[in-house]
Amino acid sequence: MGLTVQKYGGTSVRDAERVMNVAERIVEAYKSGNNVVVAVSAQGDTTDDLIEKAKEINPKASKREMDMLLSTGEQISIALLAMAIEKLGYPVISLTGWQAGMKTDSNYGASRIHRIETERINNELDKRRIVIVAGFQGINKYDDITTLGRGGSDTSAVALAAALHADVCEIYTDVDGVYTTDPRIVPNAKKLNEISYDEMLELASLGANVLHNRSVEMAKKYNVKLAVKSSLNRVEGTYVKEVNQVEKMLVRGVTRDNDTARIALCDVDDTPGKAFSIFSMLAKSNISVDLIIQSIGKENKKDISFTVSESNLEAALKVLEENNSIINARETKWSKDVSKVSIVGAGMVNNSGVAATMFEALYNEHINIHMIATSEIKISVLVDRKDAERAVSAIHDKFNLA
Ligand code: ADP
Ligand code: ASP
Ligand code: MG
Repeated sequence: MGLTVQKYGGTSVRDAERVMNVAERIVEAYKSGNNVVVAVSAQGDTTDDLIEKAKEINPKASKREMDMLLSTGEQISIALLAMAIEKLGYPVISLTGWQAGMKTDSNYGASRIHRIETERINNELDKRRIVIVAGFQGINKYDDITTLGRGGSDTSAVALAAALHADVCEIYTDVDGVYTTDPRIVPNAKKLNEISYDEMLELASLGANVLHNRSVEMAKKYNVKLAVKSSLNRVEGTYVKEVNQVEKMLVRGVTRDNDTARIALCDVDDTPGKAFSIFSMLAKSNISVDLIIQSIGKENKKDISFTVSESNLEAALKVLEENNSIINARETKWSKDVSKVSIVGAGMVNNSGVAATMFEALYNEHINIHMIATSEIKISVLVDRKDAERAVSAIHDKFNLA
């Protein structure tokens, strides 16, 4: 018997009507003869609302208690969805992350799934029940509830598909698939019929939140057949595949990431080991650094600038301040008013002039570039946040992606 894993996001289950719609779609897959396992997110803005509730009481709440709180959103969804399927007259059971055997590490708020103990789910499937699993959550070795990071229900779904050897993992959301850029920013963005795992991983990591980046990483690793579709219509979605199965495009998509902040260390000593000492300090505090630039030394001094995620800004500034006797920067500047705008495409590798075209698009819009980073299949620039959407549109147009 075939097995389909489906995932429904927050907007797809935001109210009773949407929950019934999802229930009908699940039953349809079940009636076609397949076993069906479903991962589901919290309804609508529930997760954001829970974060606000916590902030009212304690803005510095421990990550463990935050996970305890945030996991409740998904628990509401699984129960409601199971009730909807009961109402349609089909056998169903809802399971929280721990009931479903979702074992994670203990990195609260950003846990990784170690393994899924599939016995319980398999027992339920043997009884021909539809299994509804709470997305985004798991349990660590202390039996405490963990969460996988924002957008993590996608990863729950792919992990289930990998562990249960599903035939396909279908991610149902509020757009028709993966587009050349966020269709909410650029209305004439085009839906992609297919995309490689590597390109999708870059897009997701660079701000295209249509898929959680770890879900793509996992799909690639375990060769999970992944599709992104709308929960609201029957339009053919986007298939995520191996590189060699996909036509190489110069530029597949454009992204914007607002979760970034820039730090500049001015006039640090121009001596060997400086970058090593700064970035190892940050690494020790678990702070990832993204774009980095270093100026040419002048009078034995140089500037080092880099970006971190906005949520890490405060921690990074603290580490730098505490260690300034070693770093010896004359001044530390920072800004949150920046965004990273990127292009991704597997065809970039063998093509010159892609970066120049991107920069020309920004020049035409009089948008200033603060930092640049390139790799084989992506180019990222840091721009002022107020310019970011305009930058995305201009670049999207310049590469004729519409
Ligand atoms: P869900 O609740 O279903 O997980 P998300 O809000 O996490 O949905 O992801 C879907 C959203 O991702 C879309 O509404 C869209 O605004 C945004 N998005 C960003 N980049 C892209 C892209 N390249 N293609 C499609 N959607 C994108
Ligand atoms: N509910 C979680 C969030 O809002 C997980 C998810 O939707 O994937 O981030
Ligand atoms: Mg999502």
